[in-house]
Amino acid sequence: MVKYIIVTGGVLSGLGKGVAAASIGHLLSYDYKVIPIKCDGYLNVDPGTMNPVEHGEVFVLDDGTEVDMDFGHYERFLSTTCTGRQNLTMGKVFQELRVLERKGEFLGKTVQFVPHGVNHIVNWWEDVATKREAEVVLIEIGGTVGDMENELYLEAARRLRAKQGNENVFFIHLTYVPIPGGVNEQKSKPTQQSVSMLMQRGIIPDMILCRSTDYVSENIKEKISIFCNIDKTAVISAIDVDDVYKIPLIFESQDVLNVINKKLGLNAKPDLVEWKKLVEKKELTNKLRVAICGKYTALEDSYASVVEALNHAAKHNDVSVEIVWIDTESVETGCVVEALKNIQGVIVPGGFGSRGVEGKIKVIKYCRENKIPYLGLCYGLQLAVIDFARNVCGLEGAHTTEIDKETKSPVIDILPDKKDVKNLGGTLRLGAYDAILLKGSMVSDLYSAGVVSERHRHRYEVNPSYHDLLIDNGLKISGYSPDGRLAEFIELEDHPFFVATQAHPELKSSLLRPAPLFMGLVTAIIETERK
Ligand code: GLN
Repeated sequence: MVKYIIVTGGVLSGLGKGVAAASIGHLLSYDYKVIPIKCDGYLNVDPGTMNPVEHGEVFVLDDGTEVDMDFGHYERFLSTTCTGRQNLTMGKVFQELRVLERKGEFLGKTVQFVPHGVNHIVNWWEDVATKREAEVVLIEIGGTVGDMENELYLEAARRLRAKQGNENVFFIHLTYVPIPGGVNEQKSKPTQQSVSMLMQRGIIPDMILCRSTDYVSENIKEKISIFCNIDKTAVISAIDVDDVYKIPLIFESQDVLNVINKKLGLNAKPDLVEWKKLVEKKELTNKLRVAICGKYTALEDSYASVVEALNHAAKHNDVSVEIVWIDTESVETGCVVEALKNIQGVIVPGGFGSRGVEGKIKVIKYCRENKIPYLGLCYGLQLAVIDFARNVCGLEGAHTTEIDKETKSPVIDILPDKKDVKNLGGTLRLGAYDAILLKGSMVSDLYSAGVVSERHRHRYEVNPSYHDLLIDNGLKISGYSPDGRLAEFIELEDHPFFVATQAHPELKSSLLRPAPLFMGLVTAIIETERK
């Protein structure tokens, strides 16, 4: 029998429901095949066309589906690879219902939110469980209880319990226990009210996770237990942490598995030794200052996976990283030397459009000339090629046709199969693609492999008619697509670390298996500092 764990949120958004759900999943994943599902209330089919400032990073799966950034947490915490069917959005649900209705699947019936919309969602969840051969399905319902746009998912959750049996469905509700200014004590009322809203929808939580600055007092646990009809042992503190990887350990130390195992008839007993070793490191004194240069630097969530990948590599090298956010728009008019003062390594991550681009090119040129370790991700590769073309090959005005359609030297150009594509949603080159690595290159050493598969999200590429010129001038193209056409990796010799890729290796990095290029960047910084 498949077991379902449904995670809802209350009181306010931004409490870290995705990380909390992933942490519970992590604890179960040692003994069971845990398959996450995320349900979003918005009408976009996927977040691919949303501004990252509004919605955080767009995460890309192997199969090319663009999904919510919470999938990053799921894949990193559960060591799993997700498929696009594991992300429901109201956009997808309605799109499918409309197709079914036109096909005549509901012939004779008035198609309604309830029961048809709700049944469609329940069937979708069950279908994912079957197809992915899940033992435990972890369903995160987006938003906060009371949001109009998520009501169908809550009703579907209630239906699921009726259908699958109470002993197979476990409800977790994440709430907030604040200490209001001037009061100086924890308050349980927001939790009580949020749970009461959930109960109005026919759902009684089996566990309440209380986000709070510190452990929730016994007194408050007692109150929540009484007013929310829940055993005190199922009221768990989800305290603020400086490192999300501590959360599974914090939950485990409060015996969450006891409660879950008991109700669902499971026997999860994770061996957290390796995880603990990486998380509970001694105080690290060696701090590296790495700059991430982009246009959304005000909101770290826009580059969530880059930050994570950097931290994974740091943990494996016994150092900590201080990330310095550089808004490259300001570098355009300002002084690049000043901007990169005391910076030991630089990342230019993925990006689109013209804002801040000349600033990024300026930064890359400075790293190339001054031997500062540099890692370019997607746009970070394309802009490194532009710098190289302009300043080493002497192609003045070399550019990407994404920005300058009329450039005389289009060193970065649109992928041939994307030329006539008009729709913006889901039409980039998306998902995992293989690359063949050049023997003896730094990249193949780092991966210890000849063929690698990384995820992509781009519409432009290094123009193949410029490959020879770039190579003749000293740029090493160290990885190509299997057909030999698309430059997937580049690097420079006579530089401690100047590597860039058309892919997004940050999307596959995890605490236990850090991304090789990030390991390369971090070790290069350490070695450069040692000299
Ligand atoms: N804008 C570039 C392209 O579409 C790079 C995309 C990215 O960095 N993800 O090719």
